[in-house]
Amino acid sequence: MSVLPFDQRDGFIWMNGVLTPWRDAKLHVLSHGLHYASCVFEGERAYGGQIFKSTQHSERFRKSAEFLDFEIPYSVAELDEAKRLTVEKNGLTDCYVRPVAWRGSEMMAVAAQHATINVAIAVWDWPSMFDTNEKMKGIRLDIADYRRPDPQTAPCHSKAAGLYMICTISKHRAERKGYADALMLDWQGRVAECTGANVFFSKDGVLHTPIADCFLDGITRNTVIELARRRGIEVVQRRIMPEELASFEECFICGTGAEVTPVSEAGPYTFTPGKISRTLIEDYALEVNPKKRAA
Ligand code: PMP
Repeated sequence: MSVLPFDQRDGFIWMNGVLTPWRDAKLHVLSHGLHYASCVFEGERAYGGQIFKSTQHSERFRKSAEFLDFEIPYSVAELDEAKRLTVEKNGLTDCYVRPVAWRGSEMMAVAAQHATINVAIAVWDWPSMFDTNEKMKGIRLDIADYRRPDPQTAPCHSKAAGLYMICTISKHRAERKGYADALMLDWQGRVAECTGANVFFSKDGVLHTPIADCFLDGITRNTVIELARRRGIEVVQRRIMPEELASFEECFICGTGAEVTPVSEAGPYTFTPGKISRTLIEDYALEVNPKKRAA
């Protein structure tokens, strides 16, 4: 891959309150966050210079840290302002925004009660894929071997780095088999979500999506539910077993990165991206665009 490595770019990364030259935004190899996964992050997008639902992301960021027993030393308002400043300082308008918080180097054992909490915010170019016709071909999903963990075994509502270990493994396995991503079941064998996005299905004009009781209740997922309801499309959140996928007509995934992306296959099940997917791709594109929203 010829993508410029992320540590060899130019620009500024907000680090513990200071806009730092990109290449100098480093941490020590002995960091608790790296060794023990005491690390949480966010994934956001700015459209037309405005971060979509910035405050909700800042709130979730602080909540994610609380689940991991640490407090982010900046308020929601301070985080919102820091993100806005970082986007502006890097001269970007349409970009991805990545806040990350981790325990530092003061203690290097399981317990790290007195480790400092570090916070950084980076932004980079990541064009959204709003070529609807291209998207309407749909992506192909593998079914992951790993399952979303039981809420009694992991802080499953935190956007915690450690929870992504099984996502990376599942996505790698899927890509090696020629799939775009993997659909993950949960600890009870129910359909849960993809490795970095939530999932919806349609049948007879009604949308169905799994209850977010053991995985991330995405900000995009909630936006899509709201957009569908505005259109008068009924949305049912319920237990969905994999065998039932044979009876659905459309399927799409959604997340800050994926936006709304139709699915043509999930393991042995096939779907035909159609009217509901197209409508929600278009409604989402309007919803995130500050100019179109104001119009
Ligand atoms: N599930 C997982 C595992 C994710 O990583 C993401 C992306 N943050 C989502 C769902 C969707 O969340 P959001 O819509 O808030 O980006």
